[in-house]
Amino acid sequence: MTARAHVHDHDSGEGLLSLEVARERIIARIAPFPPTRRLLPEAHGCVTVTDVGAPTDLPTFASSAMDGFAVRAADVAEATTDRPVALRIAGRIRMGHRPEAAVSGGEAVAIPTGGAIPEGADCVIPIEACVVEGERVLVLQRTDPGKHVRRAGEDVTAGEVLIPAGRRLMAPELGLLAASGIAEVEVRPPARVLVVSTGDELVAPGEAAGPGQVHDANAFTLYGQIREAGALPHAAGIVRDDPQALVEALVSNLDRADVLVSSGGVSVGEHDPVKGAFRGRGDVEFLEVAMQPGKPQAFGFVEGRPYFGLPGNPVSVFVSFEVLVRPALMRMMGRPQERPQVTATLETDITGPRGKVQFARVHIRQEGGRWLARSSGGRQSNLLATVSRANGLAIVPAGVETARTGEEVRVSLFREPEDG
Ligand code: AMP
Ligand code: MG
Repeated sequence: MTARAHVHDHDSGEGLLSLEVARERIIARIAPFPPTRRLLPEAHGCVTVTDVGAPTDLPTFASSAMDGFAVRAADVAEATTDRPVALRIAGRIRMGHRPEAAVSGGEAVAIPTGGAIPEGADCVIPIEACVVEGERVLVLQRTDPGKHVRRAGEDVTAGEVLIPAGRRLMAPELGLLAASGIAEVEVRPPARVLVVSTGDELVAPGEAAGPGQVHDANAFTLYGQIREAGALPHAAGIVRDDPQALVEALVSNLDRADVLVSSGGVSVGEHDPVKGAFRGRGDVEFLEVAMQPGKPQAFGFVEGRPYFGLPGNPVSVFVSFEVLVRPALMRMMGRPQERPQVTATLETDITGPRGKVQFARVHIRQEGGRWLARSSGGRQSNLLATVSRANGLAIVPAGVETARTGEEVRVSLFREPEDG
């Protein structure tokens, strides 16, 4: 892209690609992963591709819901505290075993919670309503057939859909599959994402930053964002502003990555390594997107893997991941691409570039049944603490220079509500 007058007017959207078009271009080249078989722990958070049928009834057999005695309801129909009914104890049920004793007329079998209901019994008398006297039990209470019995198949019937296609496997689903005896399931796997930070000025946190040096924040922001998306980050560290070093860092890690992400070095500076590495070569486009922050972007394919070259400013990284990378990862993993959004009333003015969509860091809270949003600080893209104080990104569309206090904005939420 050639230098033009518009580059001096940072608020203009002229000559830039709209965010919608940029996203469409990216998404059009991203395909959902083919499903793979995974053990349940590794399938956590993944999405099913086909219906999973129930192999068995759940519960698989009738069992007791109480500690007590399995009996015939008809035998104890007249039982009261004053006139208990005496039954002969014909045996006891052991957990994990087939019932040895059956219950005939005038008999009871001791049964623990979860024990299999023996042949002939149709209900359970809780231990609290029984008095044991040697070989006999006195039942102090009448009851109905089926009482305190967990019926086979009352939760799930064999052959029905246990987990539908397209369902994300969370804790309840893992438990349900395991309860059905299923150890492995077919899902779209999580995306493995390689993260590289570029910049001669960068040092790792934990090391002292000398004059003019800054700590690598972006690798860690991205690490968290990738994990929070349910994908698997692999941080490959810092590379210097050298195109060859960047290419090497990406290519030497290809076996660990489905997607490649770098931050920094996508601007027009002579030392910007992404331009140096990919401009005019291969399959990487340089996009100027009408958004703030995050205008300069690189996207394409490196050795067949989708590659995102994000700008270096820490807030640009956060926002670029949210609006460009995350939807692509979600698509690969078969998940919804959009974050939940709410409409919120502004408690502060938000001023942004008139020609671009602005993603303004806001903190939203609920009050009197509506959402209120306030800016968490300045709009400059180096102010990372403003992201930490925020829980959402207010979307101020192109064409709006200032969204004013009292006006409504759409806010995309990037934290769980309970996390502040
Ligand atoms: P760049 O996009 O490489 O021109 O970088 C823009 C700004 O972001 C510069 O002030 C960089 O020092 C800063 N920056 C780049 N990469 C990182 C990083 N990994 N962590 C923190 N700041 C960074
Ligand atoms: Mg740089």
